[in-house]
Amino acid sequence: MNNSARNSAYTKSYNRKLITGIIHREPVSRAELARKTGLTRAAVSIIVDELISDGFVVEKGVAEAELGRKPVLLDINPESCYALGLNISRDKCSLGIVNLKGELKARKEIDLSSAADAGEALKIISEEIKRMHLETGTAPKKLLGLGISTPGPVDVFSGTIINPPNFDMWKNVNIVGELKKEFPCNILLENNSAALALAEKYYGLGKKFSNFILMVVDTGIGSGIVINDKLYRGFGGFGGEIGHTSINVNGDLCSCGNVGCLEVYASMPAVLKKAKRIEPGISSWNEIVDRAEAGDTRFLEIVEEEARYLSAGIVNVVNILEIEAVVLTGDIFYKHGIIMDSLSRYVNERAMTRKVHRVGLYASEIAKNADIIGAATIVIDDFIRLY
Ligand SMILES: [Zn+2]
Repeated sequence: MNNSARNSAYTKSYNRKLITGIIHREPVSRAELARKTGLTRAAVSIIVDELISDGFVVEKGVAEAELGRKPVLLDINPESCYALGLNISRDKCSLGIVNLKGELKARKEIDLSSAADAGEALKIISEEIKRMHLETGTAPKKLLGLGISTPGPVDVFSGTIINPPNFDMWKNVNIVGELKKEFPCNILLENNSAALALAEKYYGLGKKFSNFILMVVDTGIGSGIVINDKLYRGFGGFGGEIGHTSINVNGDLCSCGNVGCLEVYASMPAVLKKAKRIEPGISSWNEIVDRAEAGDTRFLEIVEEEARYLSAGIVNVVNILEIEAVVLTGDIFYKHGIIMDSLSRYVNERAMTRKVHRVGLYASEIAKNADIIGAATIVIDDFIRLY
């Protein structure tokens, strides 16, 4: 913990970030800002005037008021700055630009198939970043930076991709350090799930919840944990590995070295293996769901079993962190209504808090372009988040 004294410059910067963050969440009046922050109206006005003059905030409409003058609402100017988002997954690489309200301004898929190693891939990526800048006419001074998301584990502090499985070209590559040689701006790295959790926090269901997890169920099972409105990374930045929490101490060995991990039972490859025993031609979760929806009880049981496994992992997290909600994304998103009822029932039958409050189970609200928006939100979060 940082116990050093805070000088007036820090306080000023803190209050400016605090107010920017509140306005970013939803349009608000100056009086409401004073009430929410505990600052005087005069102090709020000085900061707001500065934010308006710098172009970050605009006056927009008036709030409902029963009596007297209706207060003017303040809103974020979405085009005041931009963030670049780069998502590198196992099968594709995507680049895009997102504005301060999380709206995608440009997107491009980058073909890295000709790259023999990470050095060559980075050269291609650098050229595409320059091209996107030129094509979109983004002013350099409006650029907050570049957010990069990749499969984990990653070292967020040094900006190094460590050793994600089936991601050999990028093993131990300090991608932030390498790209900073070319682009001396704020460049930050997060694992995919953490980046998606940040996108959900700012632009999706996370706006309603201060404590939630974003759970990605596809080839693996990952999560991003948000506690008190901040991404929780753990001691070294490797927290959130819900897929590698054990749900069976007598279970099979997992690639991570633990036994009986949630991922061993509930990742999409594991589910497909079970489905293929019923019908060898089945090749995707979508087909399983379609069969279940059509009333095939054998596939309905697979969906039900998936809900039981996922709920075991979720209840473990709920009992430790007392989160309010779980937001699901990944392959599991397809026709999610079919699994959500069972999942919600299992979790709320078993969680310790069941008699006090329910845990909300939801599908992500950011399905489209979540990869780019998530990556870009890493630097948007850095711009707004309080330390
Ligand atoms: Zn594991």
